[in-house]
Amino acid sequence: MHEFSIALSIIEIAEDEAKKANANAVNELVLDVGALSGIEFEALETAMEMATRNTLLEKAEIKINKIKALAKCNDCLAEFEIENIFDSCPDCTGLFHEILSGKELKVKSLVVDV
Ligand SMILES: [Zn+2]
Repeated sequence: MHEFSIALSIIEIAEDEAKKANANAVNELVLDVGALSGIEFEALETAMEMATRNTLLEKAEIKINKIKALAKCNDCLAEFEIENIFDSCPDCTGLFHEILSGKELKVKSLVVDV
């Protein structure tokens, strides 16, 4: 499962940060996951639950922020929300746009217990 290996790398990052802060546990982990990141939110949640067992994140509350995908039309410069990368502009039906957000996958914040 794709999401499981992602969960493992997120946990690795979080544990590294926690160790740097000499923390015994991570209380809260907030993730930013974009709608275009290719990640299934539910699969990621399940993977995080399983993968945090016996780690510093075992008791952490995991929050996943779903970041909407926004694009800006190259033709009429309208900004609009997209479901997938090939969606056309709702104003001028133009096919070309710049992605403004929605591809992110990152650890936004981490609360540790020292
Ligand atoms: Zn347009």
